[in-house]
Amino acid sequence: MSVNAASLDKVADNYLLKFLRETDETRLNFYKNFPDKYINGCKITENQVIFLSRIISSNTTSLPRSRYEQMLRLIPSSKIAYKLMEKMQDYYYDEFLKNPTVEREFYFDENFCGTNVKGRIEHHDSFYVDFATHRRYKLLFVPGKFYNDECSICGSEFDEMTLVHKLTCGHAFHFQCLDMWLQNKTSCPHCRTVVVKRLKKTKNIHIDDQSNEFVISIQTETSYK
Ligand SMILES: [Zn+2]
Ligand SMILES: [Zn+2]
Repeated sequence: MSVNAASLDKVADNYLLKFLRETDETRLNFYKNFPDKYINGCKITENQVIFLSRIISSNTTSLPRSRYEQMLRLIPSSKIAYKLMEKMQDYYYDEFLKNPTVEREFYFDENFCGTNVKGRIEHHDSFYVDFATHRRYKLLFVPGKFYNDECSICGSEFDEMTLVHKLTCGHAFHFQCLDMWLQNKTSCPHCRTVVVKRLKKTKNIHIDDQSNEFVISIQTETSYK
């Protein structure tokens, strides 16, 4: 068998892209199936729950603030929205940790420049286990609910209803400020607790002697950079 190694690399990369997209969908579904008892207790409609789910699972930097503020005004109070968002994220993390080992198997049969490439991907993923253990919350800023009332990166006070990131240590920051900070740091800007787990991928390609097929072993895990 002579197959260009770049073709197998492409198979592995396509797989990883698809995997990351699906993970987002799974996350959104968890929120949609959020237990009724919280919804009833909070007097909030299912649509509002779905909306909050979208805020949580979206890429926050691309979400226009006016859009979520408009929707949040329909929710009885910011304290309820805050509590609900935190519970939703806890629910997701708890559900995930019930079945923490993530191993996937995937068969591929693709054609590259006239050559058929067949094989199997074995994927072991430990990223979310770590992420769920060291929880990071996406929350609305509500005065009195956080250790800090101002972002210690830019020095400005949080406005009520601003979306902030609360780290494992309990400190909160603006998204953009934290994103910039974490590009080259791994600790909380406030108390220096190490909070960042980065996705690390390892790929290993070999031929299974018994079935004579290509096997791409992928590990995705977290690391302290
Ligand atoms: Zn800031
Ligand atoms: Zn901290």
